[in-house]
Amino acid sequence: MLQLLFLRYHGRTGIVPATVQAAPVTGTLFGSIGELQEKMMKFRLMTAGPSVRAMAFCLLPLTCYLLGMLNYSQAGKVAVLGFFILTTLFSWRELYPSRRLFTALLSVTLVLLIADIVFQVTLRQTFGVQQDDVLVVQALLNTNIEEASGFISQYRRYVGWYVVFSVLFLAAYWRLFVVPGRDFSGSCTGRERRKKIIFATIFTLLLLAIHSNSSLRKANPLFYFHYNYQKLSSEIEQAGLLKEELARGKTSPALSSMHLLQGVDRKTVVLVIGESDTRNNWSLYGYGRKTTPELEKLREGLLVFKDVLSADGATVGSVTKMLTAATWRNPDIWKSSPTIMAIARHLGFKVFWIANQGSENRGVVPILAAQADTTIFTNRGMDRGESSLDEVLLAPYRSALADPAKKKLIIVHLLGAHPAYNFRYPQDFGIFEKVYDDPVAEGLKQAGRAPWAILFRNMYDCAILYNDHILSELLRGLMAGREADSAWLYISDHGQDVVHNSDYSGHNIRVKEQWEVPLVVWRSQAKATGGEATDHLVTRPYQADVLDHTILGLLGIAGELYDPELDLLSEKFKQAKILPRRMKDADYD
Ligand SMILES: [Zn+2]
Repeated sequence: MLQLLFLRYHGRTGIVPATVQAAPVTGTLFGSIGELQEKMMKFRLMTAGPSVRAMAFCLLPLTCYLLGMLNYSQAGKVAVLGFFILTTLFSWRELYPSRRLFTALLSVTLVLLIADIVFQVTLRQTFGVQQDDVLVVQALLNTNIEEASGFISQYRRYVGWYVVFSVLFLAAYWRLFVVPGRDFSGSCTGRERRKKIIFATIFTLLLLAIHSNSSLRKANPLFYFHYNYQKLSSEIEQAGLLKEELARGKTSPALSSMHLLQGVDRKTVVLVIGESDTRNNWSLYGYGRKTTPELEKLREGLLVFKDVLSADGATVGSVTKMLTAATWRNPDIWKSSPTIMAIARHLGFKVFWIANQGSENRGVVPILAAQADTTIFTNRGMDRGESSLDEVLLAPYRSALADPAKKKLIIVHLLGAHPAYNFRYPQDFGIFEKVYDDPVAEGLKQAGRAPWAILFRNMYDCAILYNDHILSELLRGLMAGREADSAWLYISDHGQDVVHNSDYSGHNIRVKEQWEVPLVVWRSQAKATGGEATDHLVTRPYQADVLDHTILGLLGIAGELYDPELDLLSEKFKQAKILPRRMKDADYD
């Protein structure tokens, strides 16, 4: 809901160059403090209650969000923490106005919170990372004075602006909301005082309570170093273990049994992995809105598989199962078995991994990505809540296509339609955003869905429309090369529940929409498509946990780790080996 609220104010600004935007804001702010103070006197805001004063602090993170300097999650956390800490301190000070302790605590809190905001904005604007990025923690733990001063001199122009802006805000806030409180009479007695004590106690308890939320606790600047140091140590340890295990997979005897089929000399295979894309919202699969017009134009040469389930309900499990020997029946085998990237490289393929998700430092997917010859991460933020449109992938993708290697496997990992949907498409593709009267919207209304829920569906459909544009660009790029032997496969890591079953939007492993994914194949050497043979092929039931066999088939690789009976495109495919399929805790078939 917070996102919706922000959206109202925000539209979609994207990333705005902060230095350009900050100047007029600071100027106005500086010029009008006196004026503001007068007005506040008039409206008796000087004696505003603790929560109103605390609320005024939230203007700073909100401004940073509106200027694109922080993402909504960063801004939201600082705002919530600031609100509760400041309300608590202001309300106790009101009861004990002569005590300097609370004023001192207030000043320390304000400086810490504002320093934290400057820190986050600097990281985001100059390096494109978030404060809990492993890179940042490493740098902070290993830095020395020389490095620090080098950094400051290199980026002083940017950092300077943020510092000036924050100091101005701090000064204004101090004069308007903190200093007047010192004179505020705490002399109330009896019932009124008791009321205030209850208020202060409630907020103290609430302040403690919000710290039980781990994500808020981690955002508190007081716990930052301790938490991140621990996290870094454990991540480094786990990543080390995993890399060791995967390295063992590379020397597995099964690898030496793998070989290229005869005649495989030049070949390019592109595997595009989508994100949160359910086929239920593709017009190519019969959805009521025209969400895939570009792919429909290319339809003649495409195999559009109608009955494919995702490997898993979430990204990591799914990507791991698609690219390794792991299956839902045997989820851990991948750690001791070579990945398809390792197999392809072993047989002379140059492997590219181009991703608009995550970064090279986090989690399992980057460790898998590191198995490629070349890895490129295009997302400037750590969070998938970031606005990093998938078109940033196109340039590195084209260079990979132009690479002179004879045999290539190019893996493209999209950000697709991951929540928040409104970050996943540019304005031009927002054509369904305000549609509340087409058959799809009418159907949802009849099913009793709330207007805000329909807005989520509308934004999701815009993301699918943009995804269609990106997919057709990727496919056209490969087609334009006119290589004699090339293939392209698109599948999403999993689907999404977008108001299909209730007002809820997001990941929901209990519903079929989370598992029913599109799978589309194009092959340069395809036998004529259409007709009975194709119908027979595209209606095959499949689950993507065994997709590694289909990819090996496309690469023209055979051996111990390839089972043609699990290859969706093979003549030897056996559906009995696929069924029954599972949606984590429930049967699908
Ligand atoms: Zn995912």
